[in-house]
This record gives sequence, C-alpha cells and structure tokens, in this order.
Amino acid sequence: MPSSAELDFNAPQPTEAGDKPAGPPPFESWGRYPEYNAELKQLHWQGDYPRAIDGVHHGALAVGMGRSYGDVCLLKDGTLVQTTSMNRLLDFDPATGLLTAEAGITLAQILDFAVPRGYFLPVTPGTKYVTLGGAIANDIHGKNHHHAGTFGRHVTQFELVRSNGERMHCSPSSNPDYFGATIAGMGLTGVITWAQLRLKPIVSRMIDYQGIQFHGIDEFLDLTRQAENIEYTVSWVDVTSTGKNFCRGIFMQGDHSQVPAPLKVSGKPKLTFPVELPGFALNGATVGAFNSVFFNKQMKKRVSALQDYEPFFYPLDAVLKWNRMYGKRGLLQFQYAIPWEHAREGTIAVLQAVAKSGLASFLAVLKAFGDVPSPGMMSFPKPGITLALDFPIKPEKSFALFDRLAEMTNEFGGRLYPAKDARMTAAQFQAFYPQWEKFARYKDPALTSGFWERVVGGQMGVRGVGK
Ligand SMILES: Cc1cc2nc3c(=O)[nH]c(=O)nc-3n(C[C@H](O)[C@H](O)[C@H](O)COP(=O)(O)OP(=O)(O)OC[C@H]3O[C@@H](n4cnc5c(N)ncnc54)[C@H](O)[C@@H]3O)c2cc1C
Repeated sequence: MPSSAELDFNAPQPTEAGDKPAGPPPFESWGRYPEYNAELKQLHWQGDYPRAIDGVHHGALAVGMGRSYGDVCLLKDGTLVQTTSMNRLLDFDPATGLLTAEAGITLAQILDFAVPRGYFLPVTPGTKYVTLGGAIANDIHGKNHHHAGTFGRHVTQFELVRSNGERMHCSPSSNPDYFGATIAGMGLTGVITWAQLRLKPIVSRMIDYQGIQFHGIDEFLDLTRQAENIEYTVSWVDVTSTGKNFCRGIFMQGDHSQVPAPLKVSGKPKLTFPVELPGFALNGATVGAFNSVFFNKQMKKRVSALQDYEPFFYPLDAVLKWNRMYGKRGLLQFQYAIPWEHAREGTIAVLQAVAKSGLASFLAVLKAFGDVPSPGMMSFPKPGITLALDFPIKPEKSFALFDRLAEMTNEFGGRLYPAKDARMTAAQFQAFYPQWEKFARYKDPALTSGFWERVVGGQMGVRGVGK
C-alpha cells in the first residue's frame, strides 16, 4: 500500500489552532469560494476524534480532500477535522472484492491497490482525489449511474462516531436509519471512521471507447436510449453556441475491455497548473474558441478507440490544481437533476439562459440519470437529466445567473447538488429536499457546515447545530 505522503498530492497543510495566516485560508473547497478561516486539525486515528472536537463551541465538521466545490466542506468559525492521514487499508477479500479501509483513504489510493489485483471502483466521480468518507457523505455518482446507481449502493457497512464518543456500526441491517442518513448526510451525522466497499472485477485497464458528435437535445436523448446497455455514458456540451449549433456536443460512452491486458498501477501526474490566471482570461470569447476547437477536434461523426481508464474517467486529474485557472476569485459549479417529465424542456431553457447570459462555462457535462434507487435519505440523483456547469466567479454577473438557474430548476421540479453548490437559498434547499426535517433528526448536535447554516441554520436554533 503506498503511503499517504506519496499519494496525498493536494491536501492542504495544517495550521496551528488560532493561527489565522494572512495568506490563503487553512482549508479551501475546490471552487475556493466562499473563503472561511475555520481552525484545521488533522485526524490521525479514529480514537482522536472526540478529543479533536472537545471544547468546540462553533461547530465542527470532518473533511476529506476538499474536492466539493462550495461550502458543504467548509465552516466559518468552527473546527475542521481532516481525515486524509487516517488512510489505512484494513482488509481485502480477493474472492469477493470486499475492501475495508479507513475513511480518509482516497479513491486514487484504492485504485493503486485494487487495479493490479483485478478490481475497480464500482462508481467513480470525475476525479480520483476524493476520500472514501467524502464519497459516502455526498453519495457521489459517476458515468455509470444508469447501471450502478450511486456510490452508497456499494457500501456494505461503516462505523459512525458521534461527538459524544458513541461508536455506531451502520449497515442496511444494523442501525439502518443512521446508515441511510449518513449516506449523502454531508458529514452532519457524525464522523465515518472506516467503511467497507464492494469493488467490481476487471481484466484490463482499458475502456472500449466511442465518441459521437450530436447536434441538439433530441440527438442526445436518442444516443442515451441507444446506449442503454453500455456501462458508462457522459456528454460534453458546448454551451456558448446558438442557432444551428445550439446544444451540440460529444456523447462519450465506454465499457471495460473484456480482453485481458496487464493491470499496472497508474503513473503520477506530472503537471501542476502554474499560476492563478487573471479574472479576464476565461471569458465568452476564449471559452467559445475552446469549445469550437474541442468539438471539431473530433473530425468524424463517430470515433472508436481503446483508451486507458485514466483519460477516460479522470482527464482533469492530469493537471493538479487546475482550479487555479479560474483565478483568485475561484469558480462556482451549478449541477441540477430534472426529472424526465420536464427534463427536455428544462434543459433547453437552462441552456438558452446560459447562452444568453454571455457567461462562459468551460466544462459543461450532460448525462441521463437512471432509476436505480439511492440508499441515502438526502441523495441528489433522480431519474432524468443532470447538467453540470462551471463558471469563474464574477459576483456582479455570475451570482445573478446562478440564482435564476436555481429558480428555473425549482420550476421544472428538479434539484441542485449540495456538493457543487455555494448559492442556493434556504427556501430552495427545503423545496429541493423536503425530507430535510426528517434528516435533521439524525444530525450530530456538535456538527455543522457553512452549507447547513446557509440553508437551514436559522431554523435549527443557534448556528444550526440542532438539539
Ligand atoms: C474535478 C471534479 C470532478 C467531480 N466529479 C464528480 C462526479 O462526477 N460526481 C459526483 O458526485 N461528484 C463529483 N465531484 C465532487 C466530489 O466527488 C465530491 O464533492 C466528494 O464528496 C469530495 O470528496 P472529498 O474527500 O474531497 O470530501 P470534502 O469535499 O472534503 O467533503 C465532502 C463532504 O464529505 C464530508 N466528509 C468527508 N469526510 C468525512 C468522514 N470521514 N465522515 C463524515 N463525513 C465526511 C464533509 O463533511 C463534506 O460534507 C467532483 C469534484 C471535482 C473537483
């Protein structure tokens, strides 16, 4: 098992309690917005946890790699307890693929262990630099949602430690209500110290890949239907074009190759984004030009290739700290899921609003969610279309657009993803997740987050820490 020192590329460095440096905050989310200065402590061993939060008066929160975009992994004044040093592999059964590990292990570390042994993650997001605990706490989804559902579906059990020191064993049959509340529980029910995950067998690192150009939402929907039996599907969409190029994109699909091939460990990324670009660098013109080049890079309507899993699943991980491209102000993601009933009209309306705004989204990802039920009480996916967009933060322009898009999502019966959010209002959150009051009963009284205080805080008593 590689050591965390070797693999923990981007973990923010700890600072001493009370030390508020003039430079960057002790812990940032991937969007680098909002900027808070909560104290940061490292958790090296699960037994440290009750001590780490002893005497915390402003709320505490466990965090992983900070790969959430907004404030679900941030706190204004409290104590963040980072778990990335708690990353030991505890058990692995090569016959069943059941892997048990401490919650601070990253998916990159799991892959380095599992791939040479013929196993892969059952569900993976678009970056492998997230922790096991973070993947459970946001019940993340991947390109195979229509086949495999969310990450939480493949978690068989975990331990949850509450701030009073109580250790709860959680599984579908042991404390099932805490199991359901903690999957997608945004870190608010307690600290996950270890978890068991069922991996899936593979015989090769390679993916049988096809990229197919489409023009318009109906071609995207046709391709989605045709790809029903293909495990991974996702689309890049050009959100800057209008007219005959409106909603053009590339539909990317793939399956694990069934032809046995060497199962080596991945190499390490060699590039780090060197500087923070000035705010004006990413604008409608530069992103529009990029989108044209990207779309036309695929000269033919359809291309097929045998592709390594790294560029297929993690193209962005090739450059570390790529979020610096968005400058000091950072970026905001916006991701909705709109149910099938309104998915087509809702997606067209949102894409039209984005094109009209003139605000450029560099990474726009369109995908159909399937109907495999999520085990988490607060899980985000629902059957329909999901669209993820990111924008450089320009408060005077981008916030107004986000607020409008969030309202449109509400009108079309959809919801936003807390892991990618820093803007939704309390009223919107409570409409998107009407089960929030039931969820709040499982919340640990000592824990809170910037997100929770924003969307519920006032209604749960002082600082939203509940009872
Ligand atoms: C490039 C990129 C691509 C992405 N693609 C996808 C995608 O395809 N699908 C998707 O669903 N998401 C995606 N994400 C979002 C990311 O997968 C999630 O935000 C993930 O939860 C981040 O994990 P983390 O370890 O960084 O946790 P953090 O961001 O640090 O924390 C996330 C949440 O987990 C909680 N938490 C962390 N550790 C624990 C623990 N031990 N116990 C209890 N709670 C804990 C925190 O309190 C917080 O609420 C992407 C992010 C990036 C940057």
